[in-house]
Formats: sequence, structure tokens, C-alpha cells
Amino acid sequence: MPAAHPRYPRLFSPLDIGVTTLKNRALMGSMHTGLEEAENGFAKQAAFFAERAKNGVGMIITGGIPPNFEGGGRGSKLSEPHEVAEHRLVTDAVHAADPDVKICLQILHTGPLARTSECVAPSAVKSRIGSYMPHALTAEGIETQLRDFANCAALAREAGYDGVEIIGSAGYLISTFLVQKTNLRTDEWGGPFENRMRFAVEVVRRVRKALGPDRILVFRISAMDMLQDGLSWEEVVTLGKAIVAEGVNVVSTHFCWHEALVPTIATMVPRAAFTQVTGRLRKELGVPMITSNRINMPHVAEEVLARGDGDIVSMARPMLADSELVKKAYEGREDEINTCIACNQACLDHTFNGKLVSCLVNPRACHETELNYLPTNLPKKIAVVGAGPAGLAFSITAAERGHKVTLFEANADIGGQFNLARKIPGKEEFDETIRYFRRKITLHGVDLRLNTRVDADALAGFDEVIVATGIEPRTPAIPGIDHPKVVGYMDAILGRKPIGKRVAIMGAGGIGFDVAELVSHGGVSAALDIDVFAREWGIDFKNHPRGGVTGVEPKVETSGRDVTLMQRKSDALGRNLGRTTGWTHRLTLQRRGVKMVGGVDYLKIDDQGLHTLVNGEPRLFEVDTVIVCAGQTSMRKLYDDLQARGMKASIVGGAYEAAELDAKRAIDQACRLAAVV
Ligand code: FAD
Ligand code: NAP
Ligand code: SF4
Repeated sequence: MPAAHPRYPRLFSPLDIGVTTLKNRALMGSMHTGLEEAENGFAKQAAFFAERAKNGVGMIITGGIPPNFEGGGRGSKLSEPHEVAEHRLVTDAVHAADPDVKICLQILHTGPLARTSECVAPSAVKSRIGSYMPHALTAEGIETQLRDFANCAALAREAGYDGVEIIGSAGYLISTFLVQKTNLRTDEWGGPFENRMRFAVEVVRRVRKALGPDRILVFRISAMDMLQDGLSWEEVVTLGKAIVAEGVNVVSTHFCWHEALVPTIATMVPRAAFTQVTGRLRKELGVPMITSNRINMPHVAEEVLARGDGDIVSMARPMLADSELVKKAYEGREDEINTCIACNQACLDHTFNGKLVSCLVNPRACHETELNYLPTNLPKKIAVVGAGPAGLAFSITAAERGHKVTLFEANADIGGQFNLARKIPGKEEFDETIRYFRRKITLHGVDLRLNTRVDADALAGFDEVIVATGIEPRTPAIPGIDHPKVVGYMDAILGRKPIGKRVAIMGAGGIGFDVAELVSHGGVSAALDIDVFAREWGIDFKNHPRGGVTGVEPKVETSGRDVTLMQRKSDALGRNLGRTTGWTHRLTLQRRGVKMVGGVDYLKIDDQGLHTLVNGEPRLFEVDTVIVCAGQTSMRKLYDDLQARGMKASIVGGAYEAAELDAKRAIDQACRLAAVV
């Protein structure tokens, strides 16, 4: 028996799951990355998964693969023998990377969320977020679906998977049988819960038979679906017991249907907020349980296991952010982990926009075959100006490749605008990215010069200069813009100027919304306190009413300020926020009483307040403070000066382009440049 790991004795202990033993408790959870449908996608997936397998993860669940066309409509599926060979690329690569790592195929029948007009469901009930009205399945149609699940499992076995995970949650086919509002049937598949759960149980029975007794069978259950009139606790337990009786080895808990109005993985969700539900179910079912959601660092995983909230910890997005997360934890190098900040910007937002998934903090994710940071044959002396995300990402990547990098930063610390972002309640995770960069600077020997504003003269003598000087806030030319009641967003966020009781926020982009969050917020940040989070989103973890939310009113704490967020465009405010997170920001602000006004012409600011035309009508906002969040302009001067002197220079991040600038683009651009410099 090997000695227990000194820091993470539970995370790094093996687990007997009946059919096999897992080498540790770290699971890479399922994520549909888009590689499933990409050209040469399976070869790319093989590289993607093998890199995680090589670096310590105990088990991997693939992205969801439909068992037939109508179960997805996206292209990928596993229903024909000729589709087995491409899956073999994945299983062979993972097992070659480490024969002890298990990989299971997730069978995902998306039901009413399939991207095809041929989508099916127990009843013709359209999902709020689905594209099509589903066809209600006939009894024969149900039998076809069941056969297709079993067939997919048999093919998965043939393809070399160690098992399968059936997803029975999130608003996909199986879960729509379970819930009353989506199952209006009156035959043996509808009505009382014993009928509504029949499909789930039958899927498990058929899949177990097709898979054989020696393979892993995981079922992902809706442990708290966050739906008004969703599943009751008793129904969850009844279903759990029934599927275990049919041969499920491991139950994985899932929280929330995609259409539910509760955030479960966004950055404002506290770490491990939902694992308590797994802990309760674990006591009832007596099989190994997987828990998940916002577990992004090894100590969080260890604490979850120590509380008895699960036997296996699923980390999905954290494995995008850092393929070596598990290895670094094992080796005591936690401070080198590139932590998932739960922004969803390059992962889930991409999925829902039909784009290939990657990661804001790690642009190599899902690009393992084409973006690699290989040692350089030609080490250069490189100056990087600006230690924001772009300059930092460039510096550590170039230094890791063997270049001699000097990084100049005008401020007293690194981080650039991330030092503002991390002050916003709900964005505390941005601290982790700064911590990661700080550690990597030391590790790769970047020569960091803080409090050093440089100009072109100071940069002679370097082989190359990378300009990452970021942005300057835009100051609109409005009469009264220099009035004492006008405050720039940087001063507002850093608390350098007082903010009054009545506030107008000029500009409703990402920063305008963040500033509205900051000035309307009261009490403790929900991201740091599970009880506050539960109150804000109307979740009753303790009593678990139907769905965890039925009859529970959200209760928000506010700063007591009267806040108006405004923009010139007349469309709805916040339209350009992240696809999967924008609604949470809009809803939170609405609940706090923040007013949102579009179609505004700013006329002047004076002692009375902000004078405007709203949709052509004069309107005075009698406010004490006007916070300007009117976008930015690029700081290109240094780059232009260097060019004028004929020096070799490149420009990245906000300095390259401020319009629609975001950190995803800044880091991606910087890493891609550092890979070839
Ligand atoms: P910056 O972060 O602006 O860094 C530039 C650095 O260069 C600064 O540290 C500056 O001091 C230094 N510098 C400038 N000139 C010189 C010089 N001559 N010599 C030495 N040093 C110099 N983006 C997202 O994608 N998601 C978010 O959720 C998000 N939230 C945000 C919230 C807030 C409140 C703010 C303000 C921004 C947010 N952003 C977000 C935007 C994100 O922070 C920027 O996209 C990112 O910081 C741009 O990185 P950068 O390195 O190009 O520039
Ligand atoms: P932004 O998204 O470009 O928004 C700027 C706002 O200012 C808009 O509402 C714009 O709308 C208004 N504006 C532009 N020019 C103006 C002018 N001359 N006078 C008055 N108003 C003007 O920029 P940002 O909010 O400053 O954010 C910068 C970048 O950081 C964003 O692009 C975003 O990607 C990133 N960020 C992201 C997040 C996130 O959660 N993902 C959060 C914060 C920041 P009108 O022109 O209609 O008035
Ligand atoms: Fe995490 Fe954001 Fe990367 Fe997605 S894009 S994996 S949420 S850091």
C-alpha cells in the first residue's frame, strides 16, 4: 500500500468502483469541445485527452456523443460500426499515455435541445432555449431510442472505452421524461413518477446489457434541477436507487437544467457550492459518487472529499485551463496551476455560439496539435512593455521557450486591468491568474522591472520589443465632463473617489455592467459565501423543495444607491455580454433595482446632474455621481515611436486594438506570437 499523499491524501487515493479501481479521485468531466465535429477532430481529441491522461487525471469522460442523428443533429454520433475507428484514435491515445487512466464515452441524447427539426421528446413541449418544437415520441419511437442507446454502448465497448456515462440531466432527453412539465404523456412513460422514470431506468438496463458486466457505467443524475416544480428530493433518491439496482457503478450529480435561471458554474458561483447535495445523496445510494461545479483547485477538491461530499471530484473547465493541474497538485506545485476563472468566455460561450472551445487563460486548450511552445534555436533579447495579461502571457511563454525576456511595467505591480477586474464582486477568481503569472515570471527567469515606465529611447539594445501597453479610458467630449461629480471607472473601482447615493453610469459595456455590480452591491460577495449565493438566487439547499428552488424568493442585498446604467444605442442593454453569463448580470442588476436606459444622448453635466435626451425626449438624471465607462482607446504611441526608429516591434492586446478588447483575445494573441518569435 503506497503512503498517503501528504497534502491531498483523499484526492490521490485509489477508489474501487466495482468493475475496476481508479488510480485517484480526479476526474476530467465531460465537455463538448467542438473537436467532435471538426476536420481531423478525432486526431485532435486524441492529443487533447492524451495530454490530460499523461498528466495524472484518473478518469476522463468524453464530450457528449449522441446515439443517433435526432439525439444531436450536430454531426457527431456513434451509431454505425464504421464510426468506431475514429473513436479508437482517442481510446488508444489515452491508454498509451497511461494504461491506468480510464476513459468513458458520454452518451448524450439532447432530446428537445438537438439542433435538428427532427428532434424528439416525450411530449411536444419546446424548451425555452431549444431551437425546435420536438416531435412527441410514439411507443415505437421510444423503443427505437432505447435500442440506439444500447447500440451506442456496444459500439463504445468495441471502440475501446472503459465504459460509458449516460447523461440523465440538464434538459436533455432522459431528464425531460422525468419532469412533469415536459412529460405530458398518459401511457406507461408518463404520469406518476414511477412511470416518468421508466425511460431512464430502461436506458440503464439496456446499456448495462450491451456494455457487459466488466465496463464502467456512470449515470449523471439531476440532483437539483433548479426548475420551478422540478424533481423533488424523494424523486431524486428513488431514481438513484433504481438505476443503481440496474447496474450503475458510479452516480454523477448534475445541477441545473440549461434553461434554469440559476447560475451553477459562472464565476459568481462560490467554489464547490453544490457539493453538499451530492453529499446528501451519497448517504442514500451507497455507491461511489462524482461531485462537481466550481471545483478549480486541488485543495478545494480535497476539502470536498474530506466533507464526504463525494468520492470522485469532477473538474472539467479546470482541465482546459491547465492540462497539468493534477500533476502539479501531486508534485506540490499548486502555485503553478493556471486556474480556471469560470468566465465561460472561451469554453461554454464558444459552444453555444457553435465555435471550437478553448480557454481564456490557456489558448492551447483544444489546439494541442497546432499551438506548441517549443524551445527556441535562436534565443533573443526581448523587451516586453506592459505587464497586463497580454504582456505577461507573452513574457512567460517566450521565456519558457528560452528567450531572455525583460518585462517593464509602469505600475508597482503586475496584472494591468485584471487588478481592476478582481475588485468586482464575483470576479475574485481573477486573482488566481495574477498569482499564476507571478509564479511563472520567477520560474522562467523573466527580468521584471516594476515602477518603470519606458519609452523608445530606453529600448535600444533589445533584439525585439513587444508593446503590450494596453489602453486609455475614453473621455467623451461632453460639456461638464470635468465637473467634480464625474468619476472615471478606474477611480470608481479602486475607490480613489467617493461615489454618491444617486449614480449614473455612462456606458453599458462589460465594464459598465461590472461597475454597476460594484456600486449596487451590498454585503458580502455571493461568490465568497454559499449562503449569500443561495439567498440571492432563491435556492433552498437544506429543505430541497422541488428543483431546490420552488417557492423560494431570491433576496438580494443592495448598497442602497439609486443606480442608472445607460448607453447611446437603443437596443437592450447587455446584449454583447457573454452568451452564457450575460443573463446573470442583467438579472442580478434588475433585482437590485438598477435602472437600464438605452437611446441616450448625453448633453451636459452640471450641479443638477446629467442632462440628456432619451429617445429624443429631454431628461435630467438628478445624480450625485456620473461614472464614465465609455470604452477605451489603444495606447499605440510607443509602438509608433519604435517603428519610426526602424526597431523591430510587435503590438499585442489592448494596445493593438481596444475596440471590443477582451482578455481572451489579448492572451491568445500574445501566446501565438510568443510561440513563433
Ligand atoms: P492592460 O491590462 O491594460 O495592461 C497594460 C499594462 O501596460 C498596464 O499594466 C500599464 O501600466 C502598462 N504600461 C502602459 N504603458 C507602459 C509603459 N510605457 N511602460 C511600462 N508599462 C506600461 N476582459 C475579459 O476578457 N473578461 C472580463 O471579465 C473582463 N473584466 C474586466 C473588468 C474590468 C473592471 C476591467 C477594467 C477590464 C476587464 N476586462 C475583462 C478586460 C481585460 O482586463 C483586458 O482585456 C486586458 O487587461 C487587456 O490586457 P492588456 O495586457 O492588453 O492591457
Ligand atoms: P465596451 O464594451 O466597448 O463598452 C463601451 C460602452 O461605452 C458602450 O456601452 C458604448 O455604448 C459606450 N460608448 C462608446 N463610446 C462612447 C462615447 N464616445 N460616449 C459615451 N459612451 C460611449 O467597452 P468596456 O465596457 O469599456 O469594456 C472593455 C472590454 O473589456 C470589453 O470589450 C469587454 O470585452 C471586456 N470586458 C469584458 C467583461 C466580461 O464580463 N466579459 C467585463 C468587463 C470588460 P454606446 O455607444 O451605445 O453608448
Ligand atoms: Fe475556465 Fe474561462 Fe478557461 Fe472556460 S475560458 S476554462 S471558464 S478560464
